[in-house]
Amino acid sequence: MEISDLNLRAAMTSPFRNLFELLDIWTFARWDRRAEAQGWTVVKPQPLVHVYRHSGFASMVTCGGCGGEGVTRKGACHTCLGSGRQRPEPDR
Ligand SMILES: [Zn+2]
Repeated sequence: MEISDLNLRAAMTSPFRNLFELLDIWTFARWDRRAEAQGWTVVKPQPLVHVYRHSGFASMVTCGGCGGEGVTRKGACHTCLGSGRQRPEPDR
């Protein structure tokens, strides 16, 4: 059986990947449990990066006063109070 460079590289990096996965679980377990208990979603785009989002965040829209930046030339946006998001106008 012949081992290609690709297989050898994958075998060598696998222990580090497993180590990162264990470190990721150990580091964020407490925060993940807390977020899930509060109904927040947890997105893990890559090891050691977790993004927590409240379900209400999806119902908000980009602030029209600052274009989502949270600041204007005059300082913090008064419409969204610096968050860059606001609740949509109710339909009339
Ligand atoms: Zn704003």
